[in-house]
Amino acid sequence: VKARGEGGIERYRPGMEARGAERRRLVADLHTAITSGQLVTHFQPVVTLPGGRITGAEALVRWQHPSEGLLGPGAFIEAAEQSGLIVALGAWVLRDATREAATWPGELTVSVNVSARQLRETGFPDLVAAALRDSGLPPHRLTVEITESLAVGGGATAGNLQALRDLGVRLSLDDFGTGASTLSLLASCPVDQIKLDRSFVPDGGSFAIADAVAQMARAFGLQAVAEGVETAEQAARLTALGYDRAQGFHFARPMSAADLRARLAGEVVV
Ligand code: C2E
Ligand code: CA
Ligand code: CA
Ligand code: CA
Repeated sequence: VKARGEGGIERYRPGMEARGAERRRLVADLHTAITSGQLVTHFQPVVTLPGGRITGAEALVRWQHPSEGLLGPGAFIEAAEQSGLIVALGAWVLRDATREAATWPGELTVSVNVSARQLRETGFPDLVAAALRDSGLPPHRLTVEITESLAVGGGATAGNLQALRDLGVRLSLDDFGTGASTLSLLASCPVDQIKLDRSFVPDGGSFAIADAVAQMARAFGLQAVAEGVETAEQAARLTALGYDRAQGFHFARPMSAADLRARLAGEVVV
C-alpha cells in the first residue's frame, strides 16, 4: 500500500492514515519514535547563485521506522501536528540539527522548519536559546523557517518572532507565494529571507511569479532563496532573476548527516 518515493523514502498515499484506529496507532508509534531515538535528521545543502557553493543546509526530519523503513515527513507530520506531538518532535529536530551544524566548518548555516503550533508556545524562544547554548552554535548560523499559514498564528507567535530576532536567529518565510496573505505578512513579519515555493519553479513554463517574488525580496531588502531547483536551466533563470540562494536536486538531495560531513570535507565552503 505504499509507493517508494524520491530518495528511497517510503511515502504513504494521501489519506491512507487519515482516521480511526490506524491514526491512533500512528500517533502512539510516533510518540515511541520521538522518545526512543527512531527520528533521524537529513540535511539538504543550500547553495549560492551563481556558483553552487554550499552555504548551509536545511534540516529535514525522517523516521527510521522499525518495520516500514525510512519514512519521509509526508507520512507523519500531519499526524504530529494534529496530535500536538509536533512540539516534542520539533524540539528534538532543533536540538539534533543545531548539534550537527555546530560541527560544520566556517559560517555554514542550518535551517530548521518550525510549525505554527510550536511557534505559539510561550516557551519556544527559551527552547531555541537552550539549543544554541548547549550546541555552541552561534545564533546567526541558525535560520528558523516559518510558513505563511502561521502568521495569523495567535498566542505568543508575534512576541516569539521578535524574541527569536533578539536572540540573533534569522527568520525565513517558507513556501513563499502559496499562502493567502503574502503581502501583509511581509509588512508585519520581521523576516530576513523568503523561500520561493517550488511550485513557482516551473519546468519550461513562465517564471513570472518567481520574477515578482525576487523583485519583492529586493524591495524589502530580503535574501531570496529558490527551492526545488532540478535543472541547470532553472538555476540559470533564477540566477538571472536575482535569486541569491538555491536548493534542489540539481545541486544536492537531502542526505544523512554523515554524508553531508563527507561532502563538506571534500569541498571549499563559503
Ligand atoms: P519544505 O520545508 O518545503 O522542504 C522541502 C522539501 O522539498 C523536502 O521534502 C525536500 O526533500 C524536497 N525537495 C528538495 N529539493 C527538491 C527538488 O529539487 N525537487 C523536488 N521535487 N523536491 C525537492 P521532505 O523532506 O519530504 O519534507 C516535506 C515537508 O515536511 C517540508 O517541506 C516541511 O514542510 C516538512 N518538514 C520536514 N522536516 C520538518 C521538521 O523538522 N519540522 C516540521 N514542522 N516540518 C518538517
Ligand atoms: Ca522548509
Ligand atoms: Ca519550502
Ligand atoms: Ca513545501
